[in-house]
Amino acid sequence: MLDDIKGIGPKTIKLLNKLGINNIEELITYYPFRYDILKRSDIASLEQDDKIIIDGIIENIPSIFHFNKRMDKMSFRLNTGSYLFNVIIFNRGFMRSKLVSGTKIIIIGKYDKKKNTITASEIRFGILPNIPIIEPVYHTTSGITSKQLNIYIKEVYNNTNIKSYIPDYLFEKYKFLEKNECIKIVHNPNDINKLKNAFKFLKYEELFLFMLKMNNLKLNRGNNRGIKRDVSYDLVLDFVNKLPFKLTDDQMESVKKIYDDLMNIQSMNRLLQGDVGSGKTIVAIISLYINYLSGYQGVLMAPTEVLALQHLINITNLFKDYDINVKLLTGNIKAKERRELLKDLKDNNIDILIGTHALFSDDVIYNNLGLVITDEQHRFGVNQRSSLKNKGITPDILYLSATPIPRTYALTIYGDMDISSIKTMPNGRLPVKTILKSDKDIKEVLTLMYEQIKENHQIYVIAPLIEESDKSDLENVNELYDKLNKALGKVCNIGIMHGKMSNDDKEKVMNDFKDNKIQILVSTTVIEVGVDVKNATMIVIFDSYRFGLSQLHQLRGRVGRNSLQSYCILISNSEKERLKIMTQTNDGFKISEEDFKLRGSGDLFGVRQSGDMNFSIANIKQDFNILVKAKEDSLDFINSKAIDKIEYSHIKEILYKSTNLD
Ligand code: ADP
Ligand code: MG
Repeated sequence: MLDDIKGIGPKTIKLLNKLGINNIEELITYYPFRYDILKRSDIASLEQDDKIIIDGIIENIPSIFHFNKRMDKMSFRLNTGSYLFNVIIFNRGFMRSKLVSGTKIIIIGKYDKKKNTITASEIRFGILPNIPIIEPVYHTTSGITSKQLNIYIKEVYNNTNIKSYIPDYLFEKYKFLEKNECIKIVHNPNDINKLKNAFKFLKYEELFLFMLKMNNLKLNRGNNRGIKRDVSYDLVLDFVNKLPFKLTDDQMESVKKIYDDLMNIQSMNRLLQGDVGSGKTIVAIISLYINYLSGYQGVLMAPTEVLALQHLINITNLFKDYDINVKLLTGNIKAKERRELLKDLKDNNIDILIGTHALFSDDVIYNNLGLVITDEQHRFGVNQRSSLKNKGITPDILYLSATPIPRTYALTIYGDMDISSIKTMPNGRLPVKTILKSDKDIKEVLTLMYEQIKENHQIYVIAPLIEESDKSDLENVNELYDKLNKALGKVCNIGIMHGKMSNDDKEKVMNDFKDNKIQILVSTTVIEVGVDVKNATMIVIFDSYRFGLSQLHQLRGRVGRNSLQSYCILISNSEKERLKIMTQTNDGFKISEEDFKLRGSGDLFGVRQSGDMNFSIANIKQDFNILVKAKEDSLDFINSKAIDKIEYSHIKEILYKSTNLD
């Protein structure tokens, strides 16, 4: 428990939770995202305005100038033994009493060579050691510093023995350092080579566990019998021909592949990938239709309620002339309704069930489940897939994912999965134009919004995320809603959507937005994935810098869904350089690669991860070689039955621990 750690109370726990740290394991695996190397600068080689790190003695009594209550400027001379510098530093007036002449200090700052002046960003007491200091830097939130985080982590590894998930013989094989040691080194390194070794172990361990889960799933799948169906392809074509649009070649080919898989006695295990907006949903719906024709129940699982709702609306609409019973199951429905629904499901009165991971609750029992489709697959944990309660038959499985997984990785990770790709967008799509703005440009943004409204188009507005204050996201959406209402309320209707609304309310808002009764939808990121309203031509994202690039790409994918020119307005006062790539490309693959360079593997598979790809240290691209080893080793481990030994029970346990989604 986190509160067992010295110095951690309820307030700190809240802050840690904000960082996604909910238990000790998550704390010690909250790794630095970079290291600062502090090494005395070689003055002779420095250029104008270079970064400088230097230590020395304060020569004179620092002088201070107060601009106002909060702002001040201090200056003094620093003697390094061989050089004399002028140093200035802003807003450190409070340190002045300690900065008496003769004090030994370390200065980090920018060197103005011409003026022989250092503008310091940091002053520390002491002298620089002769070997470089390696300082871990963590992603933090206000109220907690990198240093504090580091202290808590130290508390853990100094006082507990952290168990490894790797069997001993593999430790010997690879000559790994002890896990405790590795954790310690990663959080407090003093030697680059040791740091590299520690990384190697931690990455291996993470990938080993991941592959263990994957291999375990795969092995459990093989021996089940699949379903043999008999449906005429003409019936499928009839359905396709009645659709409001013509399928693209890639969509059609995917349909044919899926049809063949479904007709085959072997279970289908297929991944359908295509960039956001490429039209995966309709392929999924056709698959559900084929499955229905062959007499089986089908499910479609989505990562959010909003998306599940939208699928329900869509599918109900497409099947309105057919006698197909479609129902929704999320964690949000009333007990009585749920009881009835479960009974109907068991009695085979429901043909298609759409929902969130609630579809996989223990008490959900299908009569004859034939097809399971997971939308936005990368958001789910692997264990979700295996926990279907079904009567003996093995359903066919189709995963949808917006993230292009390079083939080699996909094959390694998913092994026996077949892959279909939708590479081209539906005809007549214009690339979304992306514009980067600052908070101060809000008037201009409102004008751009007004232009869209005048055209009778619709707009999403993503409310800023709150981190600093105790205000909830909810208040934040409301606040933005009020502001927009003042500015644009006279010319259009504005709606609100957030996670805390009831299903019914969400459905109503979704429908109102779809029917253009609402022109502007102010929302949290609950609409991040999958939501599809063709007439929406603009998305305005506040605080864009808080999002990963792939996440922004997903959000942007909400618009540009017909032949109209669409716009994405990113509002941000910082990290403009990083955000710029969004204005340069609409290619999800390029963006995820870029994200990957900047943020590590976490975002490789698209949006923020809730599922298994959420590695805290490994990076399946850079660490591909380790991944391959981990794959082989984990398979041997399972096959050797060593996993059943008592000393490995904690490894076995983690295999069956389900992934928590919310
Ligand atoms: P994603 O692949 O991101 O899930 P969707 O399935 O939501 O994308 O499709 C995006 C939009 O494109 C939807 O409005 C859908 O109705 C539409 N669409 C899909 N296929 C075609 C097509 N062949 N022609 C025109 N529009 C299409
Ligand atoms: Mg989708």
